[in-house]
Amino acid sequence: MEEADVIVATIAFGMGIDKPDVRFVVHYDIPKSLEGYYQETGRAGRDGGEGVCVAFYSYKDIQKLEKFKQGKPIAEQEVSKQLLMETVAYAESNVCRRKVLLNYFGEDYKQDNCKNCDNCLHPRKQFDGQEEMCLVMETVQKSLQQFNSEHIANIIAGVSNAMIKSYQHHKLDVYGMGKDRTAHFWNAIIRQGIVLHFLEKDIEKYGALSVTQAGKDFLENPSPLMLFEDREMEEETDASADTQTKAGGGGGDTVLMSMLRDLRRDMAHRLKLAPFVIFQDISLEDMSILYPVTLEELVHCQGVGEGKARKYGKGFVELIEKYVEENEIIRPQDMVVKSVINKSLNKVYIIQSIDRKMDFEDIAEAKGLSMDELIEEIEVIVNSGTKLDIDYYLEQTIDDDKLEDIFDYFRYEAQSESLSEAVKELGSDYSEEEVRLVRIKFLVEVAN
Ligand SMILES: [Zn+2]
Repeated sequence: MEEADVIVATIAFGMGIDKPDVRFVVHYDIPKSLEGYYQETGRAGRDGGEGVCVAFYSYKDIQKLEKFKQGKPIAEQEVSKQLLMETVAYAESNVCRRKVLLNYFGEDYKQDNCKNCDNCLHPRKQFDGQEEMCLVMETVQKSLQQFNSEHIANIIAGVSNAMIKSYQHHKLDVYGMGKDRTAHFWNAIIRQGIVLHFLEKDIEKYGALSVTQAGKDFLENPSPLMLFEDREMEEETDASADTQTKAGGGGGDTVLMSMLRDLRRDMAHRLKLAPFVIFQDISLEDMSILYPVTLEELVHCQGVGEGKARKYGKGFVELIEKYVEENEIIRPQDMVVKSVINKSLNKVYIIQSIDRKMDFEDIAEAKGLSMDELIEEIEVIVNSGTKLDIDYYLEQTIDDDKLEDIFDYFRYEAQSESLSEAVKELGSDYSEEEVRLVRIKFLVEVAN
């Protein structure tokens, strides 16, 4: 097949979905839905060999994706938030990954330990977090449901910073009540509270947390609640967690961020203004995440109103536009599903559905394809070396004798794989669709 021993591909290259022997799938970014995750990991080990899937997960990535969505229609935000929360729940879950995934797709996995996933191999420590969860919810209520998880975690852990002082939150009775644990620990409790639907986040209000009805019910009638400790490897990064919070650490493009800072400094110098008067750090940070290239887009960044955008924005969007172009950056706005991606998603779906012996009619219908288009996609998949077993479908749609005739034609008589020639040679007893389908079988079993 390939001459290279190892091929590393990003999703932009279709990630070799036609290859049966993908050994590793690494998610360096969190997938935007569980469905996507399932399809992407499903690319590993299609030949029945080993397939290792590693997903890196940090809650910062979620925040970044949520920021992408700001300024989008609310309905769209809601849908993607839902999908994303399912991924978060999956990532945070300590239940067998296999069980969770199969469950999501309506299947039951009854084994207790799959002996393959991280949760089964290295179970996370559990503890009764009843009091901790109540403390989190009380803090959210006492700060009037106006603040995001970092801030709430900082209050409980007794962190002293400008934000806390300016809102006088060090005077709340809950301040420092959990100071024997780090803000990082409290953040993990908050995330689990979100997954358990005790807490809700308002993306429109920069992630402000509020307590849901279920949360209020729990506060009134608390009961033992098993929560999970974060893994130790994450605890090791605790030392830097505080500094990260101080620096903003919004997960943006650091190179662009420093360019934007330089521009702001020069501009401030030229206009004899303090840099923050032009744009605050938080605005620059959003620019480094959202990559706005017009003044309209710039307004989506925190702290940037229309006036400011008009007054100071031009140089910034020009710099960003140039940067985006030179570095071929795919901006969140451009991430509208492109037909190419769509197509490759179809491929994964088709491969998986055929593995599950689904009727072609159902596959075509599920993906809104005509039978012609479906067969065409299957031909592409097979031509690139993936062995699809479509016998189950041939058996129920094509007469045995006809099947043999067409197969033998390709095997013994045909001068090439040409379809039009085959149709001509075989004559009108055989429909083009039949010829194409059997040709697929031939390509899988003999030619490739
Ligand atoms: Zn498992």
